[in-house]
Amino acid sequence: MALGSNLGDRRVQLEVALARLAAEPGVTALDVSSFHVTQPVGGPAGQAPYLNAVLRIETELDPRELLQRLQALERRAGRDRSREQKNDARCLDLDLLFHGDLSMRAPELELPHPRIEERSFVLAPLCELEPERVLRGCGRTVRQQLEQLNGQSKTSGRVFGETLCLHSPAAAQAWCRERAKRGESIGFVPTMGALHAGHLELARRAAAENDVLVVSVFVNPLQFNDPQDFQRYPRDFAGDARMLTGAGATMAFTGDLTQFFPGQVGADGKLASAAWIEPGSSAEGLEGRHRPGHFRGVSTIVRRLFDVVAPTRAYFGQKDFQQALVVQDLARARGGPQVIVCSTSREIPGLARSSRNQLLSDVERRRAASLFAGLCAARELWRGGERRAEALDACLKSTFGRLDIELEYAEVRDPEAWTAAPCRGKMERAIALLAARVGRTRLIDNLRLDEPGSGVR
Ligand code: AMP
Repeated sequence: MALGSNLGDRRVQLEVALARLAAEPGVTALDVSSFHVTQPVGGPAGQAPYLNAVLRIETELDPRELLQRLQALERRAGRDRSREQKNDARCLDLDLLFHGDLSMRAPELELPHPRIEERSFVLAPLCELEPERVLRGCGRTVRQQLEQLNGQSKTSGRVFGETLCLHSPAAAQAWCRERAKRGESIGFVPTMGALHAGHLELARRAAAENDVLVVSVFVNPLQFNDPQDFQRYPRDFAGDARMLTGAGATMAFTGDLTQFFPGQVGADGKLASAAWIEPGSSAEGLEGRHRPGHFRGVSTIVRRLFDVVAPTRAYFGQKDFQQALVVQDLARARGGPQVIVCSTSREIPGLARSSRNQLLSDVERRRAASLFAGLCAARELWRGGERRAEALDACLKSTFGRLDIELEYAEVRDPEAWTAAPCRGKMERAIALLAARVGRTRLIDNLRLDEPGSGVR
């Protein structure tokens, strides 16, 4: 099924709808795409863009019953179809796309959805879940039909060409200078590769907000305090390049440590001490304490990447909240770029997307999902009026105490006034952050307690 919203806080609308769908009797939510921002089709000018996603569910309900449930959820979100004109903005739009292999044509419902093949805003998220599904009308797969539509599209803005892949930072720098000389704005998404839909959300946003999008793919050895973690880290540059083409990247580049720091890496593979960049005080506490040297490694590579690309805007994920603070400090000290922090993209039922998730077994993945449930429990407490840091911390810790998870930390901080030490007393704003080992894999996550959102997904 497809979800869309272009009224109110679109992300919250979709998150709440996903949570309610997952709690619906007779419905099991299995898999959700990332969220795609798309321009409205038809309707009056000036309407806000949509946020779209596709969800795979398992259900014992027949299509009509399911449709009724979806419409009830739309009403619960505040939508009133009876007062709505065609193509009006809507807080929530839920559509059935397929129901197994069923074909049906009734006034209230047609399956498969009759307009799916013309709609890139459905096909793009669907392509994340079922790229090889054959569409009956055109006989093409979802991926082929999406490529066809993107190739033809004249109205939906830029048509993305293939991503240029460069294998040295020097070549990337020359390319970026050339584009900047033409007066083009450069959006930049630094990554360590093994890309997932969360990275692509950043990339799509950066592509939409800039003339060109540059993505770096580099598993930075400087930020790994654990050599085994570095070795196990997944790598797939060819696969990454394919995904980036779909996300609108103009250029992607990679390189090795000596190429990033010419003349500064010794025969022992160590970086000269003069090349290191010390992070600011946001690096203290939590990740900084549990991964000694990590943020020094992050600051050193990010500073270098900023010098190579000289981006107008750089995009980072809220999933690595403390990293985003460290990078903001660094950008401020350097005099740019503008740093944009993007929301965390999550799987069902709430596990933050991460390249490391592919290292989890099925059992571990289910266990890892409880990390988000623990964060949500703290948010429920906040929503119930609890403001004492000690009580919020205790709630977080007690949730994980009962689980087969090795917790490194779970603490509450003021997101706008970072402190290394735990917060005490009454809080005005709060973010809960955690790191845990599930099997051999280290995962981190966080959740703003003081902002709206599903709370149960
Ligand atoms: P990484 O490849 O893990 O270094 O991540 C590259 C960028 O993508 C960082 O800014 C991350 O914070 C961001 N990122 C990673 N996972 C997610 C996610 N699930 N949602 C949003 N951003 C993410």
